[in-house]
Amino acid sequence: MGDAVTVACLDLEGVLVPEVWINVAERTGIDALRRTTRDEPDYDVLMRYRLDILAEHGLGIREIQEVIGGMQPLPGAREFLDWLRERLSVIILSDTFYEFAAPLMRQLAWPTLFCHQLEIDAAGRVTGYRLRQQDQKRRAVEALHQLNFAVVAAGDSYNDTSMLCEADAGILFRAPDNVIREFPQFPVTTTYDELRAEFASAAGLDA
Ligand SMILES: [Mg+2]
Repeated sequence: MGDAVTVACLDLEGVLVPEVWINVAERTGIDALRRTTRDEPDYDVLMRYRLDILAEHGLGIREIQEVIGGMQPLPGAREFLDWLRERLSVIILSDTFYEFAAPLMRQLAWPTLFCHQLEIDAAGRVTGYRLRQQDQKRRAVEALHQLNFAVVAAGDSYNDTSMLCEADAGILFRAPDNVIREFPQFPVTTTYDELRAEFASAAGLDA
C-alpha cells in the first residue's frame, strides 16, 4: 500500500454487534420484523413495511432504543475494536441509522460512525428515513483514497462487498457461504483473533 497512512473501515452489524432488526423482532416478539432484504430485495419497500409495523405496535424511537439498549456488542468486539483503534483510525460504515446505533455505540466507546438517519416526529414516532447516500460504503473508501489514505476494510455481507472491492485490502468476517463463494479474493475470518491477524498483515501492524 505504499507510504499512505492506513484507515480501517468496519461494517457494524454482524461484525461488532448482532443484527439489529432480528434482535428487535426477538425482543418484542414481533415476528414480522424478521423480514430481511433476502425476503424483500427492494430496500425502500422493506423499510416502509418495518416502519408500518412499528407504528402498528405503537413502538416509537424511545421504545426501540430501549429494546436496542438491551443488546450488547458481540463477545470480544469491544476488545477487538479497542486494539484496532490504538493502531489505526477506524471508521464504522453501516447501513443502520444513528438513532438505532446509539445504545450500542455507547458500549463501544463512541467510535466514528457513518450511517443513515431516521425521521422522527415530535411525539417520537418514526415517520421515515433518509439514506445519506447510495452505496455510501464504497463511496467512503473512494473519498479516503482521494485524501491519500490506504484502506483495509472488513464486513460480513453483500452490502459490504463494494466497500471490500474498493479497499486496498478486504476481509470477510463470519460471512455466509454464498458470499464467500462469490468473493474468493477475500480472506475469510471467523474469530477476532483471525480478524486481528488479517488486519495486522494487511496494514503492517504488530499483532
Ligand atoms: Mg453486516
